[in-house]
Amino acid sequence: MSTTVTDADEKTLLASIPTGLYIGGAWRPASDGGTFDVLDPSNGEVLLSVADATPADGLAALDAAASAQRDWARTAPRARGEILRGAFEAVTARADAFALLMTLEMGKTLAESKGEVAYGAEFLRWFSEEAPRVSGRYATAPDGANRLLVNKRPVGPSLFITPWNFPLAMATRKIAPAIAAGCTMVLKPAALTPLTALLFTQVLEQAGLPAGVLNVIPTTSAGRVTGPLIKDSRLRKLSFTGSTEVGRRLIADAADQVLRVSMELGGNAPFLVFDDADVDAAVDGAMLAKLRNGGEACTAANRLLVHESVAAEFTEKLTERMRAHTVARGTDPSAKIGPLVDETTRDKVHELVSATLAEGATLTLGGHALDGPGYFYEPTVLTNVPADARILREEIFGPVAPIVTFATEEEAVRLANDTEYGLVAYAFTRDLNRGLRLAEELETGMLGLNAGVISNPAAPFGGVKQSGLGREGGFEGIEEYLETRYIGIANPFAD
Ligand code: NAP
Repeated sequence: MSTTVTDADEKTLLASIPTGLYIGGAWRPASDGGTFDVLDPSNGEVLLSVADATPADGLAALDAAASAQRDWARTAPRARGEILRGAFEAVTARADAFALLMTLEMGKTLAESKGEVAYGAEFLRWFSEEAPRVSGRYATAPDGANRLLVNKRPVGPSLFITPWNFPLAMATRKIAPAIAAGCTMVLKPAALTPLTALLFTQVLEQAGLPAGVLNVIPTTSAGRVTGPLIKDSRLRKLSFTGSTEVGRRLIADAADQVLRVSMELGGNAPFLVFDDADVDAAVDGAMLAKLRNGGEACTAANRLLVHESVAAEFTEKLTERMRAHTVARGTDPSAKIGPLVDETTRDKVHELVSATLAEGATLTLGGHALDGPGYFYEPTVLTNVPADARILREEIFGPVAPIVTFATEEEAVRLANDTEYGLVAYAFTRDLNRGLRLAEELETGMLGLNAGVISNPAAPFGGVKQSGLGREGGFEGIEEYLETRYIGIANPFAD
């Protein structure tokens, strides 16, 4: 595909996307024939209509996953890894198609989408390599009598619920380790962005994934369709990425079956710039941490906390860089930020900006929605933000940078930790000891030290406090899909 995307490119791609449910290795319509429209957030036009799964379809998907579990667990780890490796090659070969599809349904720029394709595909390669490395141990008990055999078993049928902001990577972060570990699964992608998941499912089918291992059920009735699965004793694991509000409810629902849960929830990342920081590097980092994915990321810098001695320089440089960021449809080669995902998200961002101004902040840049069609919002900088402003407590999920100043390291740490979230923090400083102190004192699952983007398939991604439970990626990622089994063996020298 050429760098300039034409209408014909878009039509050809959309015509190739499967639009059914994928259950038991077959594509099928919803049991009641229902469909729903997937919209392009840059103009509100319908891209495609896809099957709208019913509760009966959800149970059929779990039936298929439960039936396939035994054989899949017995499939050689190397064979499971080879399927993932094949899928990695296929996604990489079709990177342009995946990128365009994501841009069309979610809005992010093509450059951002290509970045996500590379990131999302890496989980397939990483876990293809982890599949044959699952192991256990054999030991002599401390008293020298019995022998202890410990091995790992797949958890079993798993339910995955994913958000719209990273339509490929949020799916591969769960599907790849589950395949590697030998689990079967049901995926419910976000209703706003099911197309990328459907194309990826086709890739896995073509890579040889056996029927029933992955079942995919887009739906507009998330709670009604997934609720009965969570209460079904055949389900053994729930992995959710989305808002803390929904995650809390799902944890409560999962208690009935004492399900294993992984929760990748919301964030409220502090971005700390100290007086000894390289300010230009901090501005580069802030552009990434704030504007990656148009600000629609759980890892987005939500609060820019800047030492008072460098605040003026940092604010001026960041404002100029954000001013130069072109807002346009994601397929436009000049676009640095696409539209927000829908009208509700755009209106929520604007309401939060308006509330912050009413609370006494100063508007340094932006502050307005752009004329439609589409849900575009200007890059926005807010200064003099009061310490108790609502914007500092809530996820913004848009291209808005609230700047707050601090005077001491102690104050910076206190402000950074003053949130119920704990996903990621960023800190810019040239002082190694300060960096190490922050690594111990900041209450987050991850820290970017002089770095504005740290997501990496080889690293454990996840949060503490109300940002979640469990880790995705790294050596830790596959553990979420494994149970530890212990076999006690009588002393072989006893007779
Ligand atoms: P969301 O509203 O919580 O939705 C996430 C997923 O849950 C969607 O598939 C949604 O379906 C589904 N869902 C909603 N209500 C449900 C219910 N009652 N039962 C079962 N499923 C339900 O979040 P979002 O707006 O899509 O995504 C943004 C959020 O995700 C932000 O808070 C962000 O921080 C978080 N996030 C976290 C991470 C991380 O790794 N920590 C990564 C990315 C995003 P519908 O599509 O039908 O609504």
